[in-house]
Amino acid sequence: MEERNEPNIPRLDRHRFDGVGQCIYCGETDDLRDEHIVPYGLGGNLVLPDSSCGACAEITSRIELKVLRGSFRPIRVMRGIQSRRKHRGAPTKLPLQVRYGDEWETIELPHHEYPLLLHFLVYDLPGCLEPEAYTEGLRVRGHLTYSFGPRPEQVVKDLGADEIRVSQTDGPSEFAKMTAKVAYSMAVASGAVDPRRGRPEVVRSVLGELNEIGRWVGMVSRPRQWIRDVLHYVGIKRDREHNLLIGEVQYLTDTGTPTYSVVLGTLDDVYVTDLALRTPSG
Ligand SMILES: [Zn+2]
Repeated sequence: MEERNEPNIPRLDRHRFDGVGQCIYCGETDDLRDEHIVPYGLGGNLVLPDSSCGACAEITSRIELKVLRGSFRPIRVMRGIQSRRKHRGAPTKLPLQVRYGDEWETIELPHHEYPLLLHFLVYDLPGCLEPEAYTEGLRVRGHLTYSFGPRPEQVVKDLGADEIRVSQTDGPSEFAKMTAKVAYSMAVASGAVDPRRGRPEVVRSVLGELNEIGRWVGMVSRPRQWIRDVLHYVGIKRDREHNLLIGEVQYLTDTGTPTYSVVLGTLDDVYVTDLALRTPSG
């Protein structure tokens, strides 16, 4: 278990950065909306004003909703993360698949009795670092499972069951696209990337114009970090070894989940100082 010590990293609960004056995704200057760097539904209160056009906002919202209403929904409800709809319509009970002998059945349990298992995908290196091995899409190597609430073994015992299973609905590419969006909009907010001078190539895969999200999003092995009282971590870093500007995103940082890397450009294109923002909860 390693806790990184980076005392100079600013912690921002909420902040409005300077707006860009155009859509950071397509360059459109009409019909601009505020862009939440970390989705609002994940506790994000960092805003890039007037920085996404309506059409692009529709695409990125659809991606976020799939994740927020899919695999992240139970954890949001349980940890009380804000929701525009105050979790109206969120189930008060959650479905659990239970096996007795050879038979699977679905039962419903209230939140406080629910053994929440959250799977975080483990990706390969961003494909651009291994161009000869990369073809398309996303390269998933496996997943890490995090348990919240009652221990699964205890629930199995209490139910007198042989096995339990939790189903998840969103696909790996939505999660990767959402993560790319978080890193890119933070890079713009911090001044590391100026979309008026050109957009990172990952943007086309976020918008669905290309199926190459795994070329830019992946995992670069590094020690896992635990930062107490910090909900999410978004860092924009210079990777001198590869001469790249890389965004790092870690959700639920106090749980020691994996850190995802998003390639945003080469260092020849940009000048940045290392910058990271922590987004504490509460
Ligand atoms: Zn746009």
